[in-house]
Formats: sequence, C-alpha cells, structure tokens
Amino acid sequence: MSLTFREFAEFCSSIEKISSTLEITAKIAGFLKKIEDDEDLYDIVLFLTGRVYPPWDERELGVGIGLVYEALKLATGAEKPKIENLLRETGDLGKTAELLMRKRKQLTLFQEELTIRKIREVFDTMSALTGEGSQKRKIRLLADLYVSSTPIEARYLTRLVLGEMRLGVGEGIMRDAIAKAWGVSSELVERAYMITNDFGRVAVVVKNEGKEGLKKLKIQLHIPAKMMLAQVAESVDSAVKEMGKVAVEWKFDGTRVQIHWGNGKVTIFSRRLENVTRALPDVVEEVKRAVKEGVILDGEAVAIKDGKPMPFQHILRRFRRKHEIGKMLEKIPIKVYVFDILFADGEETIDLPLSERRALLESVVGKSEKILPAEQKVTDRVEDIEDMYHQALNAGHEGVMMKNPKSPYIPGKRGKHWLKLKPVMENLDLVVVGGEWGEGKRSHVISSYELACIDEQGRLLRVGKVATGFTDEELEELTELFKPLIEYQEGKKIKFRPYYVFEVAYQEIQKSPKYESSYALRFPRFVRLRDDKSVDEADTIDRVARLYEAQFKSKKQI
Ligand code: AMP
Repeated sequence: MSLTFREFAEFCSSIEKISSTLEITAKIAGFLKKIEDDEDLYDIVLFLTGRVYPPWDERELGVGIGLVYEALKLATGAEKPKIENLLRETGDLGKTAELLMRKRKQLTLFQEELTIRKIREVFDTMSALTGEGSQKRKIRLLADLYVSSTPIEARYLTRLVLGEMRLGVGEGIMRDAIAKAWGVSSELVERAYMITNDFGRVAVVVKNEGKEGLKKLKIQLHIPAKMMLAQVAESVDSAVKEMGKVAVEWKFDGTRVQIHWGNGKVTIFSRRLENVTRALPDVVEEVKRAVKEGVILDGEAVAIKDGKPMPFQHILRRFRRKHEIGKMLEKIPIKVYVFDILFADGEETIDLPLSERRALLESVVGKSEKILPAEQKVTDRVEDIEDMYHQALNAGHEGVMMKNPKSPYIPGKRGKHWLKLKPVMENLDLVVVGGEWGEGKRSHVISSYELACIDEQGRLLRVGKVATGFTDEELEELTELFKPLIEYQEGKKIKFRPYYVFEVAYQEIQKSPKYESSYALRFPRFVRLRDDKSVDEADTIDRVARLYEAQFKSKKQI
C-alpha cells in the first residue's frame, strides 16, 4: 500500500516549526526509515526537498502561480481577488489554499484518498502534457487533486507544485537524515549524491543495498555529476609552494558546461545541473563530429566575437532562449574550452590524477574550431604563471586557474586542488525577493529589485534595493524573466518567488535597522544576472558581515 499524502502532509507540518537542524534531521530519518515501498521512498525524499524531479531531469510540472489560482478557483469557487486577499494575509499560497479548503463545504462524500503513488501519477501526466490545451488540462488535473485534498494536504500540494516547501530541508539535512536512517556515514551519502544528484535514488540504494551499494554508485552518461570548484588563491607563490608543479590554465569568462556524449546522443548541463542541450545545437553537432564517443567533458562555454569574449550575460541569454535559437546562433557564436574529463570508455576517470586526465582529454578531442582543450602550462616558475595571468586579462578573460596535476576530480568540492587567481572583487551575489514597477515611460517594466542574502538555514534576509546599472534592454528582459515569479502585488510593489540571483556592486555596506539582515548596501549597482547560481548558493549573512568589517580594516590601512 502506498503511503497516503495526508500522512506526508502531517509529517511536513510537524517539522515545519522546528528550528533545530539536529531535531529535523532525526525526525526525517525516523520517517524515512519506516517507508517500505521503494517508489514511495523515492518520491518522499524528493518531495521533502521541494522537488518533483531531480534538477537535471528535463521533465517539469510547468505550474506557475497563475495556474494554481485557476485550479483553486475550479476546486473551491474562489475568484482571484479573494485568493489574492488571503495571500496578502498569509504571505504563502500554501496556507491560502489550506484556508480556502477549510471554508469549502464538503463537496462529495466519496472523496478518493490521495496516496503518494496517485500524486506521482498525476504529476507525471502533467509534465508530459504539451501544446494546445495543455494548460487547461493541467488546471483540471490540479483542481481534481485539490478536490480530493484535506486542508493540510492542500497546503503542501500547493507548495510542492510551486517547488517551494518552506520546510528548511536543504541538501545537508537530507544527506544527514539518509545517513542516520540506515546507519551509514554522511560522507558516503554525500559522495553518492555528488555523482547522481538524486537523493531519491541514493535513499533507495542505501535502503536495499546499504553502504556497499553506495560505494558501487558511479558516474553515468547523461546524468550530471556536481562540478569541481575552485578556492581563491592566496598568491602565486603559495600555490607553487603548495603544489610544486602547477597546471595553469586561463580562467575563461563564460559559463560552465558538462558535456555528455554517448549512446548516440549529446546532453549538456549547466553548473546548476539544468539540461541546456536545446540551447546549444551547434555545440551538440560539433561534439558529435569532433569528439570521440563515450565521454563526459567539463569545460567553459564562451561567447566569442572578433576574438574577444562577449559579456557573460550573452551566453546566459542563449541558454534561456529555447525558442529563437536559430537567430541567436548567428548573433552569439560559442566556443567551448574543455579542461577536464570525468568518464571515458565506459569508466569513471575522476580518480586518475589531473595529468593523466589531461592526456586522455587531448586524445579524445579531435581538430575543431569550436571545441578546444584549454591551453595548459605545467610549471613551477612564478613568472610564467604571472605572464599567463596578464595574457588572460588582456584577452578579456578573468584570470588564471592553478591546478594540482596530481589531484583527482572531486565532484562538488571547493578545495585547494584548484585555486583561482583574479583581480580582487567584492561584489555580492544576492537573491531577488521583490521589486517595484517603474514610473512614467518605465511603468511597463520592473525598475527596481529587492535583494536578500541567506542565513545558515537558508532564510532570506533583505539587504537593499537595486535600481541602477540596468540598460533599458536589460530591464525589459528581466521583466519578462521575473513575471512568472510574481507571488503577489500591492500597488507598484511586487513579491517574487525566490529563484534568481543578481551580482551587485556597491559603494559601502552600512549597519541599518531597515532590513532583517541589519545591514544595507549603499549605492548598489546591478552587475549581472547569476543565472548559474541557485538561491542556496547566494552570499550569506556571514559574508556580508565579514565584508562590512573588512571596510574598516582597509580604511585604517589607508
Ligand atoms: P568562480 O565561479 O569564480 O568560483 O570560478 C570557478 C568557475 O570558473 C568555474 O565554475 C568555471 O565556470 C570557470 N572556469 C573558467 N575557466 C576555467 C578553467 N580553466 N578551469 C576550471 N574552471 C574554469
């Protein structure tokens, strides 16, 4: 028997108010351990983290706030203004749905009890719908689920379809809960997650095969592994001291891509592990032509025009334009500089030292104008590294990466094997949580955006508003991008579902009682959309506090 959705919703409600991470972890572990059915376990693990599919899966429900309004209207008879009023009071569409369901008269005596299995079936049906009439069908399907829901189920159903459970169950908590439930180490669960990016699958493997099962999990073609990340280098000297010989590459100014090529197809993932294959048809063709089949490559996609990289923004624009790709292709030619290889000839290669992976990489990439192994120099001479650094900056790139030739590839790890050297930059990456419509000739665009940093538990703490640094074209584009995220509006003010991250520059950080963070940015200026970063990768309140303190130190030095 599949678990009922009501049991799941009641469990969610029981952990929602707990603030102790340890206590939430223990409760989730207890709950997971009791689930007998593998499919239920898979779904519940995903649902608790606010997901219906793993991040890399191309399937998506495609349910926005507007669709939820329509479904609620069908199920309860409530019109949009009424829903909006309730939403203003509760600040949460989940609670709004719950209230509406409470007010609803009992409609049928023979309500079908919702199970996890049933919810999964409906979600899969919804995500498979395309084309004309699909919106209507989705509204109908969701409304039917509401009709069968109790109020508390409606709360979590709503949050689930919108991808925001508000339970505070991040990756760390889920990792530890799975480890605790079946008595395996968190490190093993973490490793398994880094290469599968699917906690549901990890949980099912631990449940059935224990730690041996986890150890056997390997990187697979067409399922992305988390990307290895870099730390800031203290200096070139210290890197040479630490590593001896250093493998130096340019740090290209583009966007990270992981390219899977095997079983006759190419799949490309972004750093957020989203499937971006459709936005890069020219890269797909070239990989098929020039690269040996059966590999996973790691690299940086760069938009090059007249020999210079175009602003990062342009590549992201291409990632997002899934439709008018043809036109974009001509405007934004892309080159991919590949610098690592994670899989070849049916086997994982991440445990090989970088020097061997590099040789393998060169052997699988044929002659091409578009897919190029990043030039690499292995040296222990500080001057050589500094030369390369200046060349990279002159060519319009960001700096250099210094890598340890003896190191393995560690998915998801930001460690000392990869050190980045770039000009000091103190910009902040902040989550966009609100905005305001403009005035006069800008009244059709959102002209200012409210920004927040995050705390340890992923709570959003506002630090300021940014209204400068945008071109008119960017304002138009961002408005289109943000419209589907509008949760509610009051006059000109808007509240967004947190999803996008902005990189902003500013003149100073001040202490201020105006925002929950107790800091405020002075003269913030928009630099770019960090489309490669998710909300939980935004800057933390700790970093804001450190930068605040650092201001005084640097002033003293002057
Ligand atoms: P950051 O985002 O500043 O932490 O820098 C790490 C990013 O630099 C990676 O995620 C890549 O997107 C990018 N990058 C550019 N060139 C390289 C390179 N040669 N090796 C590794 N990463 C690179």
